[in-house]
Amino acid sequence: MAVVLNGKKIAAEITQEIKQEVAKLDRPPKLAVLLVGEDQASQRYVDYKRGACREVGIGFQVVRLPAGVNAIKVKEELCRLNQQVDVDGLILQLPLPVLAGEDSPTPILRFTRLISSHKDVDGLNQISTALLSSEIFLPATAQAVMRLIRETKVSLEGKKAVVVGRSQMVGKPVAQLLLLENATVTVCHSKTKDLAAETKQADILVAAAGVPGLISDRHVKEGAVVIDVGFNWIKNKITGDVCFQEVKDKASWITPVPGGVGPLTVAYLLKNVLQTAK
Ligand code: NAP
Repeated sequence: MAVVLNGKKIAAEITQEIKQEVAKLDRPPKLAVLLVGEDQASQRYVDYKRGACREVGIGFQVVRLPAGVNAIKVKEELCRLNQQVDVDGLILQLPLPVLAGEDSPTPILRFTRLISSHKDVDGLNQISTALLSSEIFLPATAQAVMRLIRETKVSLEGKKAVVVGRSQMVGKPVAQLLLLENATVTVCHSKTKDLAAETKQADILVAAAGVPGLISDRHVKEGAVVIDVGFNWIKNKITGDVCFQEVKDKASWITPVPGGVGPLTVAYLLKNVLQTAK
């Protein structure tokens, strides 16, 4: 039976430290979020971020644009916020809706590259440039995943790690950080032919597909460390990508949803904002 990793508890410790650090600054740091459209989950994420900022004394500004705007308007707004001197950290809330005049979702780097590297607290631009040499704004979720793995005290060197998901925000940076720790890393995605055959090899399995219950016990090797990044809303209830009840009997360590990666992601985002304000 797996040990359940308590992300909430670790997040509370980190948040406490941030609060003390913020109190020492000459002025409170400020995080700005650009939110485009009416996506319910995005609005909830923004509310979480607002609450978390408030808790540690970080200022928060949300700018909303309606779903029907075009890419030029989004870019203008990002540039305006980017130039606003009292904004320390700037986030474009993802996913973006399909914008006016476009047939499909616009590649996010077209927008996020407009954010100065010292305000890019989501660390999205670092990936295409020098993600791991800067070490300043690693994407918060990737930091959260690595923190939870560290908590297990399982050494990654030479271990087989499988990441399900290859997004710019989660899958890719997690895979890179695992590589840095000398794990042998496989990245799976929606075109992977036999997902279970890949995931069953994993000593460390990170599920970040956004597909509720994608990972069942048949996907998991006995004794694996299973980190569930998935955060999916089903009928007003949050669920992960991992079938917790069946996988917990097979894994050695597992994260719950909610209460695993989520709270730590918020804590690391706050840490990034504090860092940029400093
Ligand atoms: P995303 O941009 O939609 O990427 C999902 C990835 O999963 C894609 O690479 C996709 O493959 C892959 N995928 C989708 N279905 C799959 C399947 N059946 N088998 C294998 N791979 C599959 O999502 P994201 O932003 O990375 O987020 C992933 C999940 O993490 C979501 O539930 C999100 O809400 C959650 N999340 C949680 C936190 C947190 O703090 N807990 C933070 C960020 C995100 P393709 O590339 O081929 O499309």
